[in-house]
Amino acid sequence: MAEVLHGIGVSPGFAAGPVHRLTPPPNLPAPVPVADVAAEIARAAAALANVAADLTRRAAAASGPAAEILSAQAMMADDPVLPDAVADAVRGGDDAVHAIDRALAAHRRAFEAAGGYLAERVADLDDLRDRAVAVCLGQPMPGIPDPGHPFVLAARDLAPADTAGLDPARVLALVTEAGGPTSHTAIVARSLGLPAVVRCEGVLTLHDGVMVAVDGATGQVEVDPDSATVRERREREIGRRAAIARSAGPGRTADGHAVALLANIGSAGDLTGEGGAGAEGVGLFRTELLYLDRATAPTPAEQVATYTEVFAAAAGRRTVIRTLDAGADKPLPFVHHDDEPNPALGVRGLRLARRHPDVLDSQLAAIAEAARATGADAWVMAPMVSTAAEAADFVGRCRAVGLPRAGVMVEVPAAALRAAALVQVVDFLSIGTNDLSQYTFAADRQCGELAELLDPWQPVLLQLIAACAAAGREAGRPVGVCGEAAADPGLSLVLVGLGITSLSMSPRSIPAVREALAAHTLAECRALSEVALAAPDATAARVEVIGTSS
Ligand code: PEP
Ligand code: MG
Repeated sequence: MAEVLHGIGVSPGFAAGPVHRLTPPPNLPAPVPVADVAAEIARAAAALANVAADLTRRAAAASGPAAEILSAQAMMADDPVLPDAVADAVRGGDDAVHAIDRALAAHRRAFEAAGGYLAERVADLDDLRDRAVAVCLGQPMPGIPDPGHPFVLAARDLAPADTAGLDPARVLALVTEAGGPTSHTAIVARSLGLPAVVRCEGVLTLHDGVMVAVDGATGQVEVDPDSATVRERREREIGRRAAIARSAGPGRTADGHAVALLANIGSAGDLTGEGGAGAEGVGLFRTELLYLDRATAPTPAEQVATYTEVFAAAAGRRTVIRTLDAGADKPLPFVHHDDEPNPALGVRGLRLARRHPDVLDSQLAAIAEAARATGADAWVMAPMVSTAAEAADFVGRCRAVGLPRAGVMVEVPAAALRAAALVQVVDFLSIGTNDLSQYTFAADRQCGELAELLDPWQPVLLQLIAACAAAGREAGRPVGVCGEAAADPGLSLVLVGLGITSLSMSPRSIPAVREALAAHTLAECRALSEVALAAPDATAARVEVIGTSS
C-alpha cells in the first residue's frame, strides 16, 4: 500500500510528479571580523543590487498582479537608503551578511510603525533580506526551485513573493504543511487552476524527487503511487479540465434542478474578468473597497457612481449588494474607535448602524438611486445579523428608500438557529460560511493553526446550513451561500442537496462548480448531503462524499 498523507484540499484537480521543496531561507552564520571595510561594503551592495536586478527581471517576465508584486519588491531592494544603512552597519563592525540583516531589520521596524499597507509589506522585506543574505553566502536564492522539469512544489507555506513568479507550466501542484482554506497559497492555486493541498503534515520530510500524486479535492497526497492509478487519474483529469473549458450556461443539476451560480465581486471589473461573464449575477458585492483607506465616508455622488458602474456591468442580472461590513478583519478609520478588546465580537457589520445609522442610510439611499437610474435587479443584504429584530430593522430601512429586495447574511450561529424567524421578515438569506465557521468554532478565521476547525466541510457547519435551507424552503424564500464553501465543487453538491438555492463564489470558480452540478441529479446531491452530515469530521465528510460522487 502506498503511503498517503492527508491535508485539506483547497483547489480541486489531480496532478502527479516528483516533489521538490521550496528552497529554504539561509541561516545567519556567526559574525566574522571585517578586515577590509570598503570591500565588505562593496560585497553587501553587490548582493542588494543582484537581488534588485533579479526581481526586476522576474517582474518584466511576469504579468498582472505578479508583475506588480515583484516590481514593488524590486523598488524596495533598490531604495538608495538601504546601501547607506548597510555601509553604516559595516563601519560599525558588522560583516556584509549581518549589515544587511541589521539594515533590513531597521526598515522592518519603520514599516511596522507606519502601519496599514506598509506594515503588510514586512514579509516582502524579510524575503529581500533572505535573498541578499543567500547571495552574500554564495547559496541559491530562497524560493521556487528549478529542477529542470515539471514538479510538485512542497513548502511550509508560500509567501506572495514565492507565488508571484509561479509558472503553472512548471509547477504541477502545491502542497503545504501550514496555511488554510483562505491562505495565500489557496487563493493563488485556485486562480491558477493548480491542484493544492494545505496543512499536509509530513510533506516536507519527503526527499526531493520522490513521486507523489496530489488530489486537490480530497486533500490526499499519495507517495510513490502506482503507475496504473496515475494513468487512470490523469485521463479523468484531462476530461474534467476539458469539461470546465467548455462549460457555459446556467447552473443546473443533471435532472434540471436550477441553482443560480453567482459571482462574489469587489468592483465592477471583477465581472468582466475570467468567469465573470458566465455568472448568472452577483451574489455578493463587497462594498468595503469603497470605504477602505479613507478618513471620511465616500460622498453620496461617489457611492452612486460606484453602484451604477456595478449595475451596468451586471447588465440586468441579479445583483446582491452587501452593505458596509466594517470591523474586525476589515477595520475602517472613520467609524472605528480603539475601545474594543475583541473586535470580532464587537461593533462590526450591521452593528455599526447602532452608532452610525447615517452611514447605513446614506449607503442604502445611494444604492436605491443607482438601481432606479439603471433599472437594475438590485438586492441588498446586511452582514453580521444576529436576531430577527435586527433583520426587521434593516428591511425597514431598505423599504424606506424604495429597495424592493432586502435580505440578511447568516454569519452568526444565533441567526442560523433562528433562521425560521429571520426568514419571516426578509426576502432572502445568504449564508456567509467564512464567518459562520469562525463563530461556530470560536476560531479566528485568520488563524492558520486552526484551519481544520474552519474547514467548510465540518458537519456541524453543514447542520447549521441545513437549518437555514429548511427554514427558507418552508417560507418559500431563497437561501444562498456566498462564503468560500460555495466555490468547492464537491461541497457544492452537498449544499444543493441540503436545499441551498444559489451559490456565489469568485468568478473563476464558477465553471468547475457548474460542471460538478451538471454531473449529478438532485437526488444524488441529497444523498451526498446525508453522507456529509453523518460524517464524524470534515476530513471524513470530504473523502466520503468525493469518493462516492466521482
Ligand atoms: C463570509 O463571511 O462568508 C462572507 C462571505 O463575508 P466576508 O468573507 O466578506 O466576511
Ligand atoms: Mg463575513
